[in-house]
Amino acid sequence: MTKFLPKKILLLAGAGHAHIGMLRRLSAARLKDADTIEADIHLISEQPQTIYSGMLPGWMAGHYQLHDISIDIKSLCVRAGVRFIQQSLVKVNAASNKVVTTGDAQTDFDYDVLSLNTGADTDMRWQPDHNSYNEYRSDNDDNNTGAANTNVIAIRPLSTFITQWQRILKAAQQSEKYQLAIIGAGAAAIELVMAAQVALRNINRNHQVTLVCGENLLSGFNSGFRQRVVQQLHRHDITIVRERASDYRDGKLSTTHKSLSINAVIAATGVIGSAWTASTDLDIEGDGFVAVNDKQQSVSHSNVFAVGDVATRIDKYVAHSGVHSVHGGAVEADNLLAYLGDNVMRSYQPKSRTLYLLSCGDKYAIGSWGNVNLQGRWVWHLKKYIDKRFIEVNKN
Ligand SMILES: Cc1cc2nc3c(=O)[nH]c(=O)nc-3n(C[C@H](O)[C@H](O)[C@H](O)COP(=O)(O)OP(=O)(O)OC[C@H]3O[C@@H](n4cnc5c(N)ncnc54)[C@H](O)[C@@H]3O)c2cc1C
Repeated sequence: MTKFLPKKILLLAGAGHAHIGMLRRLSAARLKDADTIEADIHLISEQPQTIYSGMLPGWMAGHYQLHDISIDIKSLCVRAGVRFIQQSLVKVNAASNKVVTTGDAQTDFDYDVLSLNTGADTDMRWQPDHNSYNEYRSDNDDNNTGAANTNVIAIRPLSTFITQWQRILKAAQQSEKYQLAIIGAGAAAIELVMAAQVALRNINRNHQVTLVCGENLLSGFNSGFRQRVVQQLHRHDITIVRERASDYRDGKLSTTHKSLSINAVIAATGVIGSAWTASTDLDIEGDGFVAVNDKQQSVSHSNVFAVGDVATRIDKYVAHSGVHSVHGGAVEADNLLAYLGDNVMRSYQPKSRTLYLLSCGDKYAIGSWGNVNLQGRWVWHLKKYIDKRFIEVNKN
């Protein structure tokens, strides 16, 4: 008598850029009737939709509607033949091949192979009393982002930020002079500050946005690019405070030497590992990132893969960015199939130069490609074209 072995279970946790690419690939294979993967595939995500971060500043500035920047994960799963589970991952027990989630109830899921693409949290340790990662996590073990003050808004999770931004706009409509501060020195903070200034000035010319960025504005970019950004910040009349923020309370934002009157603060202060990384036996590096090798495979558990902001490569520095989640994700998807089929896996080697397009609020953008810098309205249209294409391929 023939005995059928049960199919293996591939569990995808999180609906980041990499898993979106994986779902697209699976549905394309289904359309062609090509059987690419012999496994039962499940995807766990907190939300049935995910917000595309590349277009978030454009939404804030009023160029896009919310549906323009959202990707429907549940529909992608249906098309890909993947079971969608709306839950939040809270624990990974790699020794027993189990994850724990919360949603309506706490649930355990078994897996044979696990792929993690849950992104990261905003690093809120600029606030007092949160010095080390462990201290921070033990104070914030309920999956929140450390922003207890309702007028301190973390950029991540993006779904929460969307609601908070709408609250800011409402408050600005009722105010004679609304003062908003964005804390951060990376490309996301710069895009947010210009989008916010455009949106608030459209409500009232007296409203003002301040960028609090410390001493190292855009440290990963070349000096020509930085100069172009500063020119754009001046063009928008944005106040720049090159000091570190240290606290916000009673309407005052404290920086190294200043105390600023501010109605609300948006923190785009870099990333820290997701809350669940404090509850796992996987090897974790630095501030809560899953340690992976060049195959995007956990260094402690070979049947666990991680990609995007949730992971950190132990063999070389790879920045946390959407670009690496997409490209690393394509390699990771190959490796998941190879691992399930006992085939040889490949290595993700990031390109030495990546195109970065930074939107400046009012349909103007600056681009960088290695040492080459570009700017203009046409750069914004190029960015719009690339971003819309990313959304469109995931809708059809
Ligand atoms: C305003 C802004 C603009 C940016 N622009 C760019 C850009 O132009 N180019 C670029 O390369 N990078 C950009 N970035 C950075 C980029 O957004 C991130 O690096 C990228 O989103 C990381 O992708 P990811 O696939 O790791 O995860 P994410 O895109 O963060 O997705 C993670 C997913 O997992 C889900 N999730 C999280 N936790 C759990 C959990 N516990 N259980 C279940 N599901 C969970 C989330 O809901 C989400 O759907 C920008 C960031 C911001 C904030």
